Amino acid sequence: MGLYRSKAIVLRSRNLGEADRVLVLFSEDRGKFEAVVKGARRQRSRFVGNTLPFNYLEGLFFTGKNLDSLSQAELIRSFSTLREDLLKFAHASFWVELIDGFLPERQEAGEVFRFLLAAFLILEKTGDPKVLNLAFQARLLKYLGYQPELGRCICCGTNPEKDFSFSAAAGGVVCPDCSSQYRDSLPVNRELLRWFGLLGETDLRELHRLKIEPDVLPRVFNLLSGFIENRLERPLKSRVFLDNLNR
Ligand SMILES: [Zn+2]
Repeated sequence: MGLYRSKAIVLRSRNLGEADRVLVLFSEDRGKFEAVVKGARRQRSRFVGNTLPFNYLEGLFFTGKNLDSLSQAELIRSFSTLREDLLKFAHASFWVELIDGFLPERQEAGEVFRFLLAAFLILEKTGDPKVLNLAFQARLLKYLGYQPELGRCICCGTNPEKDFSFSAAAGGVVCPDCSSQYRDSLPVNRELLRWFGLLGETDLRELHRLKIEPDVLPRVFNLLSGFIENRLERPLKSRVFLDNLNR
């Protein structure tokens, strides 16, 4: 039986059988993978406590036939504030759903891993994560190679002056002539698209420099999450929770 160590963030967990729990983990060197914690629901040990969602741990794993198992876990950082504060919890859950939805299993994604870790560290400290959340989505799309076209019409290449729309299905901006082909197209303006682009380029630690008008935020959020849902080909469960909190 193979044995290995890995540092990973716990994305989520689910129950298995009577007593076990399966963790969905994200590590710098192995990407997203699953591991079972045997007897997790029958014991209240520190080890089991270290495997809560959002925790960053260093684990000792055994390779299994179907599923690897986690036998020891040292806590590197608990990120307990992300579980205790409702607003932070909603955002962390949303991000985890995106990472979990987009990343294939066991494919190294070190850049995305370091990005999530940095975002968690900033989320811990921030009082208002709205802009951070937009930047997280825009930048994640960039890392995944899913950037929409924000300049010219994606269908015919014209550069519309006004009255243009954004279609997630088309993959970006569409001009008035082409927009009728896309039922999901939403009217947008240059300012909205400029923020979309800027949020994807700005370092998460520098976001306070961006002066975004509060009324623009929900419109950018709609554009981004609509685009993400289109790429994922399903609605995001944690988006509803987030929408309700931000209302
Ligand atoms: Zn066009």
